[in-house]
Amino acid sequence: MTIIDGKEVAAAMKRSIAEEVARMVADGAKAPHLVAILVGEDGASQTYVGHKEKCCNEVGFRSTVVRLPGETTEAELLERIAGLNADPDVDGFIVQLPLPGHISEQKVIEAIDPRKDVDGFHPVNTGRMISGLPSYLPATPDGILSLLRYYGIETAGKHCVVIGRSNIVGRPMANLLSQKGWDCTVTVCHSRTANLREVVASGDIVVAALGKAEFVTADMVKEGAVVIDVGITRVPSDKTKSGWKLLGDVKYDDVAPRCSYITPVPGGVGPMTIVSLMQNTLKAAKGEIYPK
Ligand code: NAD
Repeated sequence: MTIIDGKEVAAAMKRSIAEEVARMVADGAKAPHLVAILVGEDGASQTYVGHKEKCCNEVGFRSTVVRLPGETTEAELLERIAGLNADPDVDGFIVQLPLPGHISEQKVIEAIDPRKDVDGFHPVNTGRMISGLPSYLPATPDGILSLLRYYGIETAGKHCVVIGRSNIVGRPMANLLSQKGWDCTVTVCHSRTANLREVVASGDIVVAALGKAEFVTADMVKEGAVVIDVGITRVPSDKTKSGWKLLGDVKYDDVAPRCSYITPVPGGVGPMTIVSLMQNTLKAAKGEIYPK
């Protein structure tokens, strides 16, 4: 059994992005510039945006965080987005989700210029991805593909079971793994799936992205399977200083001995998500998906 080390892969990818940025800057280009809009005081969102800022610094990007109060109206946010769309100094930007309830996330996503949509959530990028055209791939599924690539895990002809059908993880993951080059036969499971345990147990590769702590148990996993755990759930703990710990969607200690490869939580998929965002921003700066 091999533990997939997301921290190691993320560090290697960050080094390679940093080298490329240093070369670009030495050749006279400006450093890629990523902007994050943060609305309100949500603690988890502030942490995520902080990590993104730190990662930008590590790879040599410029990073700007636009902090807006929780009572910002939808119209005000859309105006900010229009400003960033038009600003030639900004290569890519994200609006950190979730947004306060009075703002439509879908309207916000669709207001972002697809050329600057480095989260890859705009329907133009989603549509291009599904059609197999160059696009900004959503960061978490893209990070998982990078892990599979790094470890040389065979996917062609394998049965991959994806648990979860969200727009940001399950659905794009299932689509990408079925595409040419990855060539999996994919089954998507969701909250209404019948015989879920049997379906998951038939997977050569299982991607658990449902957000239910320790849902996947050893009896649901085929011997020798590759298990990718996307879930992050905070649970109280008296063993940590913070008073809480993170659990994945997989009951790790039980499942790991049956696997050929498994991602831990934390330290598996998590570190990859931010690196994928950096890769998309680099592509935006270079005009790789949409020529400038
Ligand atoms: P979501 O809540 O949007 O979607 C969950 C999906 O799981 C839904 O499609 C639902 O149908 C399915 N589901 C729910 N209960 C189920 C059940 N009992 N059986 C089968 N399917 C069920 O969540 P999301 O945004 O896709 O995130 C999923 C998990 O991944 C969360 O824990 C989230 O925190 C985590 N996440 C981690 C990263 C990372 O970087 N590691 C990134 C994004 C999300």
